[in-house]
This record gives sequence, structure tokens and C-alpha cells, in this order.
Amino acid sequence: MTTAGARGIHREVIVVGGGAAGGAAAVHLSGAGRSVLVLDQAPFPRHKPCGGGMAASVQHWFPFALSPVVEAVIQRVRFTWDLEDPVVAELPGSSPFWIVRRSRLDAFLMERAQEAGADFRGGQLVERVWRDGEEWCVQLPDETLRCRALVLADGSGSQLAAPLGLGPRQPRYATTLSVEVDGPVADMETAHFGFGLVPQGFCWAFPRQGGTSIGLGSFLGRGGDPQRALQEGEAVLARLLPSLGLPAGAGSRSLGRLRVWDGHHPLHGPGVVVAGDAASLCDPFLAEGLRPALLSGCAAARAIGHWLDGQPEALADYSQEMRHSWGDSMAWGRRIAQVFYRVPRVGYQLGIKRPTAPRRIAQILSGELGYGDIAQRAIRRLLFQRG
Ligand SMILES: Cc1cc2nc3c(=O)[nH]c(=O)nc-3n(C[C@H](O)[C@H](O)[C@H](O)COP(=O)(O)OP(=O)(O)OC[C@H]3O[C@@H](n4cnc5c(N)ncnc54)[C@H](O)[C@@H]3O)c2cc1C
Repeated sequence: MTTAGARGIHREVIVVGGGAAGGAAAVHLSGAGRSVLVLDQAPFPRHKPCGGGMAASVQHWFPFALSPVVEAVIQRVRFTWDLEDPVVAELPGSSPFWIVRRSRLDAFLMERAQEAGADFRGGQLVERVWRDGEEWCVQLPDETLRCRALVLADGSGSQLAAPLGLGPRQPRYATTLSVEVDGPVADMETAHFGFGLVPQGFCWAFPRQGGTSIGLGSFLGRGGDPQRALQEGEAVLARLLPSLGLPAGAGSRSLGRLRVWDGHHPLHGPGVVVAGDAASLCDPFLAEGLRPALLSGCAAARAIGHWLDGQPEALADYSQEMRHSWGDSMAWGRRIAQVFYRVPRVGYQLGIKRPTAPRRIAQILSGELGYGDIAQRAIRRLLFQRG
């Protein structure tokens, strides 16, 4: 490590968190010749509960192929209501939706960043960050590091962003239960989304190499009692897993909380930006968090680079960019979620079973359309039916 004494700058930029957002930021910062250190509390590769579904369009944001970590290429999406009444959407194009395993994607991005010159230290919990003059101090258990600029990408459990006034002061969370089941997969090209089983949410089953990633997400509450969530989740899994040809008790469970988008907030401060889940960017309707994590990581790297080059407005531009390129669509996604998950049966009949729906859904999943493109018509339809 290039330390310059206890009070010296250790790096131009420190990235806290080596997940999708931190990895994307590190790739682009180091690619632009910045001196970067990434700190993650976990030694890599680390397991990360995540379905791993993402639009193949994210490839455009990287100067190298992501194909080495793509485990399945989804050609169609199958929706059900209470495990019945299926709707199948064929996805357009040759590879619009990919499944990755997070342990592999995140390690892969970090390896590319290291090849470009970044340093990575796993097993390093960042306890606190604070501004000291023109520098940032980063507190590890037995060391304090200094840098000029900071990227906070410490995920849904972030303790660092809110005290700096970045993102929502009181984040909104979805409750998730994920199950990884190893074993043969009959159909590697179909992703399943099930409505009507999980209160105020949905369940999914995505194929991956050597198994299936299954999950439940519930979206409208502020995160309740974990024991109760687990019990309710088990009751859903007892029906869901056999419907997929799996024993009800198969796989290992992992209960979690996922920060979801809940309004436009500043994502920058002096010499600091927040990205990914820590910035509460995750889609509040379908829990899509990987694309915004990668998008914001790339945008954060550009903004920090410009700021280091002496453009003081670059960090405020980052907040604006994330608002226009992602937040505006999520504002519609939140409205759709609020209506859909309150009357999910009506939502399923009117939103998903419409003749035009499969194509629209495919376009949303592939990143071709944003929620704003479909929302006004969808909400009018749902409200009209209710009232
Ligand atoms: C069950 C489940 C299924 C999901 N499925 C999908 C899906 O199929 N598609 C999709 O698009 N999204 C999905 N998501 C959402 C997606 O996983 C997240 O949005 C995404 O991981 C966000 O990436 P990130 O880099 O912001 O955070 P993370 O990937 O969580 O990375 C944060 C990193 O920061 C580290 N860290 C945290 N605190 C500290 C600290 N104090 N010091 C040092 N390091 C720290 C952590 O160890 C971690 O490695 C799912 C989420 C869940 C919970």
C-alpha cells in the first residue's frame, strides 16, 4: 500500500463496499488512472443472497465482456397467479436478460479493477468516515486511512450514508427470503415470477448453473418481525418449491432487508458520493437492484474523476444524473407498486394478463422501457377498475 505517513493521503479515492456498485466504480476509476482502494468487510469471493437477474444491456457500461460470469440467458419469463393462470412473455432480442451468481460477478469486477491498478482489501470493516479539512478519514478497526474522495457503496445495511445526509434519512426496506437449491435444472431459459403467494410482493425462481435461485420479496411494509417473516416465508415455500419439482425443505434460507427507492434525495456531499443499495436505488416494484447499482457505480466514477480534475459541480451533477436516468422511472415504479400490491389480483388480471403486457414486461426487464413509459396508463386502468 502507498501510505504517506499517518496524516498523508493513502489514495485519491477509497471505495467502501466491493459489491456491484463498488466494483463498477472501482473498474472505471482505476481504468481512468486514479489511485483507488476498495475496502469490503467480507473476504472475497463472498456469498451474496441475490437472484442475479439483470438486463444484458448493462454490458454497454463495461470495456470488457461480462460473458464469463453469465450463468443463464433467459429467453422467456413465466408469470403465475397463485401458481396457476400462467402468462408467458418471450423476451425480444438474442440475450435481453442474464442470470449471474453474485459471488462470481462481484469477484470478477474486482479482478478487472485490480488489473487496472486498484487495490482491494477484503475482511476490512469500515466503522466510520468523517471529513477532516479537504480530506476524508476512513476508520478501520486498527487503522485510519485518508483519501481525497470517497465512494460509499456499502449496500442495504449502510450505516455510513445517512449520517452524512446522503440518501433518505429513514430508508424504506423490502423484506426478502432467498433460497439457493443445488441440483439439475430442467429449463435454463425460463425465469418464473409468482404473484398471489407473498403478501404485498412476489416470489421468483431463476435458473443458474447447477441449481436454482429462489426468493420471496415483500414491498409495502417498513420491515417487520424477522421471525414472523421467516414463518410466513416457509408457508409460501412449502407450496412454491414442490410446484418447481423440489422438496419443500430444499436449499439454504437467508432472510434479508433490501433498501428500495423512496423519493429523490441528494446522493453527494463534499468529495463523497453514494451508489447502489446504499443510495436506495433498488426498484420498489420488482426488486431490480443490480442494474442501478452498476449504473450508479459507473456514474459515480465519472463524477469523482471530474471532481478530482477540478470541476466542483460534478458531484451535484451525479445526483441529478441518477435522478433523471433512474429515479424518475422509480417514482413511477413506486406508484405502480403501491397500487399493484394493494390489489394484486386485479393488478395481475389487468396489468399482466393484457395482450400487450408480455411485450411491455419484456421491455422493462431488458431495460428498453422505464416505468414512466407504461405507468400512467396502467395506474388509470387499475384505479378505474377499483372505483
Ligand atoms: C434475495 C435477493 C434477491 C435479489 N435478486 C435480484 C435480482 O435478481 N436482480 C437484481 O437486479 N437485483 C436483485 N436484488 C437486489 C440486488 O442484490 C442489490 O440491489 C445489489 O446487490 C446492490 O448492490 P450494491 O453493490 O449496492 O450492494 P451489495 O452488493 O450489498 O454490496 C455492498 C458491499 O459492501 C460491503 N459492506 C457493507 N458494509 C460495509 C462496511 N461498513 N465496511 C466495509 N464493507 C462493507 C458488503 O460486504 C458488500 O460486499 C436482490 C436482493 C435480494 C436481497
